[in-house]
Amino acid sequence: MPIHDAHNHLQDAVLGPHIERIAAAWADIAGSSGEMVVNGTYPGDWADVSALSKKHPFFRPAYGIHPWDAGSARPVNWIARLTAFLDADPRASVGEIGLDRWMLDSARPDDPRLAGVRRAPMAEQVSTFLPQLALAATRDLPVTIHCVQAFGELLPLLRAHPRPPRGFLLHAYGGPVELVPELVALGAWFSFNPAFLDPRKTLQQDVFRVLPAERLLCETDAPAMIPPQAWRTHKLPPASDGAPVNHPGNIEAAYTGLAALRGADLASFTAQIADNFTRFFGRTR
Ligand SMILES: [Zn+2]
Repeated sequence: MPIHDAHNHLQDAVLGPHIERIAAAWADIAGSSGEMVVNGTYPGDWADVSALSKKHPFFRPAYGIHPWDAGSARPVNWIARLTAFLDADPRASVGEIGLDRWMLDSARPDDPRLAGVRRAPMAEQVSTFLPQLALAATRDLPVTIHCVQAFGELLPLLRAHPRPPRGFLLHAYGGPVELVPELVALGAWFSFNPAFLDPRKTLQQDVFRVLPAERLLCETDAPAMIPPQAWRTHKLPPASDGAPVNHPGNIEAAYTGLAALRGADLASFTAQIADNFTRFFGRTR
């Protein structure tokens, strides 16, 4: 049974020196039909995502502007460029897009993850998010949404605007359990990240225990969101600034960890997630 990484950033420069080894090892990790969804984050990396997905058939491309990039300069014709990338590959989806209030209200001014980032105010994030959601809705494309401390803003937008009939993926869902029924009714899917296996993340573990099985996916967000030490089956050297680098092979921890949290048998859980992945991202291989 294949395993799939529903969300990562293999195009990230920090993975550049390791990408060929990761690609060569992927079939052993994920099975011969295991796939990963590689998410662009700004117009400058879309061509890299496209090139990787042409070279490695198990990389599915996703294109979008991430909320951390919503405050950066971009070409005036960015929506037309995004549309062209989406139209060029029947496997393409929209992502990573979203809203992030953490970077505005909670992140330290010197957080290295936001070095060089102009933190776009929420109104600017919304005006970047909505046309991308509209593209996914019009074409019924999968769309991957990042939402951190911004569900108060996201929910009214999802209620008020067209959504893809197939639904939308809330990656690394970090919201409260109380929102789950309405999100499910609006079409939400939820991906579990092994960083949530940190013993301190009990609230998020409790949320993932009760989410509907037919709306679950697993992801790594590699090279970000390093799992707790005990769950790192695949290791990479740290970045030049010393930051840990997550290997997409750690997707195994998402499956074994989430199956254990839910008291599920790993084989039937893996089959359910494979079926979910195909229903959400489509069968194109
Ligand atoms: Zn991501």
